[in-house]
Amino acid sequence: MRAISKQTKHIGLDLIECEKPTPGTDDVLIKIIQTSICGTDAHIYKWDNWAQSVINPPLVIGHEFVGKVDAVGNNVRGFTIGELVSGEGHITCGVCRNCRAGNQHICQNTKGVGVHRQGAFAEYVCIPKQNVVKIGDGIPLDFASCMDPLGNAIHTALQFDLVGEDILITGAGPIGCMAVAVAKMAGARKIVVTDVNNSRLSIAKRMGADAVIDPFYENIKDYMSVLGIKEGFDVGLEMSGNSEALKDQIKHSRNGAKISVLGIFHGDVSLNINDIVFKMLTIQGVYGRHMYETWHKMKALIQNGLDISPVITHKFHYTEYEKAFELMVGGESGKIILDWSK
Ligand code: NAD
Ligand code: ZN
Repeated sequence: MRAISKQTKHIGLDLIECEKPTPGTDDVLIKIIQTSICGTDAHIYKWDNWAQSVINPPLVIGHEFVGKVDAVGNNVRGFTIGELVSGEGHITCGVCRNCRAGNQHICQNTKGVGVHRQGAFAEYVCIPKQNVVKIGDGIPLDFASCMDPLGNAIHTALQFDLVGEDILITGAGPIGCMAVAVAKMAGARKIVVTDVNNSRLSIAKRMGADAVIDPFYENIKDYMSVLGIKEGFDVGLEMSGNSEALKDQIKHSRNGAKISVLGIFHGDVSLNINDIVFKMLTIQGVYGRHMYETWHKMKALIQNGLDISPVITHKFHYTEYEKAFELMVGGESGKIILDWSK
């Protein structure tokens, strides 16, 4: 089969010919239809410090996908060949304290598809049966290939009650933009999004944000008064991984506000902890998706009209992966899909 692989410890990726995986007794082999590129894949492409510390080439990358069941292992029941599926890219141990408590998303022994084991940017991927998620009716194929980041958006947005609340989302990357639609559907009052990239702010606007702000040039406070936000934001969703954005969250939150932090920061961040103390803020770190409750919510919300189409900005045949990755690294795209169907 053909696959996109990190063959050596260098910048870039290779399109290779390799062995089609054989499913073990508890595995499902999936024939890939579409994949989408995650920030993680871009880190691996760029071969940055994080990638150098985690990735062990040669490795087929990628973990956001939709495909069809192609074969199943002897112990696998409940799937039919040709059925449309996606899958959770975190393979957890099942025996640690968190796994056994139903908190697999914070399993300490997690292995990532396309990070620690062979990934989905290939004609076929093999994953354990418990990680396979059926795509129900009414879910567009393009959305099905972006379930992984949509799950991050939902998992982060729904950490706290949003009904009637004013929300500040910092970072209008694909996940921040998806979170706009999720927060709206969950009953938020006003949603304000910040980013330093105009094309991304315009996607956030199309997703239904009440105001989009570049904090370098505009004052968040000015927009708050226009929107009737008097004491500060009730809930913050930090989705940039930028320390200035986290400071904006703390500064513009009301006393007693709650801030969910999904963004991954480079290096240490210096904060005035007293602001958190005196405002009695709750700051919640967020990782992955809740398995598999978030997957249930993703499907149900899409079936109920959640529209993430403005976030999906490009689609390429997988052989054009270099063009796709250059675009992704340039930061002027939303979600980029790779087509493996032909
Ligand atoms: P992304 O990098 O595409 O988007 C981040 C956005 O933040 C960019 O558009 C960038 O311009 C913007 N930004 C930079 N500085 C800013 C500032 N000062 N104020 C406001 N915005 C600013 O990322 P994504 O794929 O949408 O993911 C969002 C974040 O979540 C990233 O940090 C990513 O690493 C992280 N992430 C975490 C998990 C997890 O499990 N915790 C999973 C997936 C992604
Ligand atoms: Zn575990």
